[in-house]
Amino acid sequence: MITDRELGIRLADDEAKKMNKRFGVRSAAHIKVEMYAAAFGVKVIEGKLDGARARLKVGPRPIIRVSDRPCHPGERSFSIAHELGHFVLRHPASRIGALCKREPFRPVGPGTARHPEAEANTVSAGVCMPSELLAKTIETATPSLDVTHAIATEYAMPLQATTIRFAELTSKRCAAIYSEVGKVVWAVSSKTFPANVPRGKRLDPASLAYGYVHNGKVDDRARSIAADAWIATDAGVELVEHSAVVPETKGVITLLWIPEATAPPGGVDRRGITLRS
Ligand SMILES: [Zn+2]
Repeated sequence: MITDRELGIRLADDEAKKMNKRFGVRSAAHIKVEMYAAAFGVKVIEGKLDGARARLKVGPRPIIRVSDRPCHPGERSFSIAHELGHFVLRHPASRIGALCKREPFRPVGPGTARHPEAEANTVSAGVCMPSELLAKTIETATPSLDVTHAIATEYAMPLQATTIRFAELTSKRCAAIYSEVGKVVWAVSSKTFPANVPRGKRLDPASLAYGYVHNGKVDDRARSIAADAWIATDAGVELVEHSAVVPETKGVITLLWIPEATAPPGGVDRRGITLRS
């Protein structure tokens, strides 16, 4: 059964697709979120904003106020598209807070109720990294940070945002994970990934990401490692981990992939997690 959360996300995704169609987006160069805002009659103003990244003011003259603090240009675009998401989804003013996150694309926690922030992020991801443009690249790629890095360059988005997008759009068994000081801050699994990597989980010393905790370095090539470094399994199989340091936030971004060659899909159970070796 579909939850209210999932239903809201679908509506948000539809809104993003409508926008991409309306503004004739056929390549990364066509993505101009400030122009979209203007077309909706929403003025974008840059200025001081106490602690917040962006804020939407609804009313007869809607305004998106963006902080003038320096940040990655992709974070700025993502924040504007997030606020525009609240606007097009007609979220009640009482349910829209200021966007305060250092990383506006950071996923919200799990749940089943509608979540305006998750919906606004869905609009933003759908507009800043359209599935219409990326689906084929992602589907045919061998999962690795090399792909999400190339997307980050082409779409002028932070690597964490494009790695999340990869996990959202791929049909392969992948997870995007971000950690700081040896703990998982967030994780986004693809629809087919057979496990959840919980927030707050301590990194296993056998993972490549742990290298950053251990000696401030990460072996940033994709490597096969024991699957139980990341997920609960006693099947003795391996998965592919590709990790890299995010210097701006002193964190580590990780993309996990369970190739079919190491564990056939039938051997993976979402509840029991018994990977067949
Ligand atoms: Zn918001």
